[in-house]
Amino acid sequence: MNVLLVYAHPEPRSLNGALRDVAVAELQCLGHEVQVSDLYAMGWKAAIDRADFPTLAADERLAISDASKAAFKAGELTPDVQGEIDKLRWADAVILQFPLWWFSMPAILKGWVDRVYARGFAYGVGEHSDKRWGDRYGEGNLAGKRAMLIVTTGGWETHYGARGVNGPIDDLLFPINHGILFYPGFDVLPPFVAYQAGRIDEAKFAATAEQLRERMRTLATAPPIPYRRQNGGDYLIPSMELRAGLGAPGTNGFALHLGEGPTAHPAIDRGTTAGDKAKDC
Ligand code: FAD
Repeated sequence: MNVLLVYAHPEPRSLNGALRDVAVAELQCLGHEVQVSDLYAMGWKAAIDRADFPTLAADERLAISDASKAAFKAGELTPDVQGEIDKLRWADAVILQFPLWWFSMPAILKGWVDRVYARGFAYGVGEHSDKRWGDRYGEGNLAGKRAMLIVTTGGWETHYGARGVNGPIDDLLFPINHGILFYPGFDVLPPFVAYQAGRIDEAKFAATAEQLRERMRTLATAPPIPYRRQNGGDYLIPSMELRAGLGAPGTNGFALHLGEGPTAHPAIDRGTTAGDKAKDC
């Protein structure tokens, strides 16, 4: 399996740096091909702006999504953006790794999404009509690939529990898991979250690293979060509301978009999976 790890931390000697090394070593030991996009080390340009569309006439108004669509179609995206799209096409699985900063991803990673998710590639895909609202939420150009988050938090696990003051972690990560990953088609695996990262000693690091290795061993096989597919019949078109009667009574908000079972795409050959080889790693 080809794995792309998009890594957003400015310090290689950080906890995140150590966990990245653990993940990459395990994946390589399992026989996977791994590429890392180390955004700070790459000097990734976070803000999308006019410089992203160098062929746009100087006096033309910048309409980002139109310019993105035209540049994607013409093969005129900037080389850094095109390089990341090529990596996404190459990958069977994509991991986004970051420390939770202000309950979301660091700006540099958000800027990676803003710039790399070109229109026609990650959105604006498929038929848009009275009968169909595009290929998205489970369909799209990234369908058939898997994705997951590796996240570290300063807060405790209880702070992110069902009654925790920060809000449940699955709710906080919903805009990323559902809005950024499921939207263009990924099968999204449950996140790996290392809580209370400021209080990690050697023993806790060893335990966390082993849990992460286990998640890497099951990257190809773990059931994804059972988000409902947009075009699977659960939503009305064009209002895109969940049909009456779906969702357990009393369920509201993000949880409504969880269906009954796994929505994984039909099995594709993902190469090496957990098995005998895993025991050697
Ligand atoms: P580091 O600071 O590098 O390390 C954390 C601990 O791990 C240290 O004790 C270090 O000694 C230890 N460690 C590192 N490497 C190893 C190793 N190899 N072996 C053993 N131990 C090791 N937290 C929240 O919960 N919610 C928020 O909204 C939030 N917002 C933030 C916003 C900003 C701008 C910042 C700077 C922090 C925020 N935090 C928040 C805290 C943040 O999530 C944590 O600081 C971060 O997750 C820690 O990851 P790190 O890689 O930076 O850890």
